[in-house]
Amino acid sequence: MDFILTEEQRMLRDTVRRIAETEFAPRAADVDRREEFPRQNLKILAENGLLGIQVPEEYGGAGAGMLSLILAVEETARVCASTSVILTTQALASDPLLLAGTEEQKRTYLFRMASGQCLGACAITEPGAGSDVTAMKTAAKKVAGGYLLNGSKIFITNGGEAEIVTVLAYTDRDKGHKGISMLLVEKGDPGFSVGKQEPKMGIHGSDTRELTFEDVFLPEARLLGGEGNGFRILMTTFNYTRPAVGAQAVGIAQGALEAAVKYAKERVQFGRPLAGFQGIQWMLAEMALGVEAARTLVYRAASTIDREPDSPDIPRIASMAKWLASDTAMKVTTDAVQIFGGYGYSREYPVERMMRDTKITQIYEGTNQIQRVIVAGQILK
Ligand SMILES: Cc1cc2nc3c(=O)[nH]c(=O)nc-3n(C[C@H](O)[C@H](O)[C@H](O)COP(=O)(O)OP(=O)(O)OC[C@H]3O[C@@H](n4cnc5c(N)ncnc54)[C@H](O)[C@@H]3O)c2cc1C
Repeated sequence: MDFILTEEQRMLRDTVRRIAETEFAPRAADVDRREEFPRQNLKILAENGLLGIQVPEEYGGAGAGMLSLILAVEETARVCASTSVILTTQALASDPLLLAGTEEQKRTYLFRMASGQCLGACAITEPGAGSDVTAMKTAAKKVAGGYLLNGSKIFITNGGEAEIVTVLAYTDRDKGHKGISMLLVEKGDPGFSVGKQEPKMGIHGSDTRELTFEDVFLPEARLLGGEGNGFRILMTTFNYTRPAVGAQAVGIAQGALEAAVKYAKERVQFGRPLAGFQGIQWMLAEMALGVEAARTLVYRAASTIDREPDSPDIPRIASMAKWLASDTAMKVTTDAVQIFGGYGYSREYPVERMMRDTKITQIYEGTNQIQRVIVAGQILK
């Protein structure tokens, strides 16, 4: 329960804040309006070694752990949620390799991913299989020397940008979730194609695509963690990445809170600044309370992962952190729009973007209903 940041973590947070304010913030509205992948921001993330924060040094990362990753995600999301999705998705794609990759797989892929030389994606969702992953149809059939992958995935973040995609597929449908495996697909593999960009409510700068696999041949070396282990690898990965989605929500909420405080001090109605009305003061105080509580749980989840990676508490706390932070951020960003009044609804101010960007944090990496299912399952065990 001790979240005193180390000197290195403070430095990292301050560095990312400076980069976010000078580089990402000025471009954020444009990225949203143009619905453009923030390539310049990606370059800056890579140059500053931020795409492999939690990857051990032996595989080219910073080896700085989960809490450090969370600090970077939070600071980035505070000004540009779309850019923070690049960080969380890189972790979502690289963590399965860290958890289950062979030495050769780790060396082949992690160096390139940690350095930002290439992006990763993680493909689970299908048209008929969202919350219920086991309903998926994608299958990898055993053939001489490897597998033939067939199926399609939707809503895949970084789908059009990624060089490496971790794909969930059945290798033995009769075994249910124990027949699901994880395989590595590379951009350019014959039979692998990427669909058009998904039009979305928020995170407009994030790349979201349909991926199709038609008889994609994958040599055995592309199987991750052995046949039938895909579901387990995915669930363990989510334990590590859900706090990062929580950090994204905390960052957006912090940005909205700061914008609302500033506006409330400046905007005058009935002869005094909005901040002079107790009704507004209480809203701001409640927003600050929510952000602080959510941040505490997110940091606790990350810190537990760093200090006790085998703790049985992790699935529960990770789910709670994502659930609390995203619900809090939804409320805080909605209240920020309210404090801005009509101007909050206008695209001239950032809070409407923040409100739209927040919504996805309640949905991806398991909806908040699914987080409740997980938490209930853990406490009733
Ligand atoms: C912008 C974006 C990016 C995404 N990125 C990725 C990605 O990179 N990789 C990837 O694989 N997927 C990705 N997804 C997909 C995302 O993870 C799914 O949309 C999500 O898991 C929910 O699945 P679904 O949309 O099929 O909803 P459904 O599962 O159909 O759920 C619909 C509603 O029913 C509720 N519900 C479902 N089951 C239960 C239950 N048992 N009890 C109570 N309520 C329930 C849900 O909470 C939800 O409110 C992304 C989605 C979006 C929109």
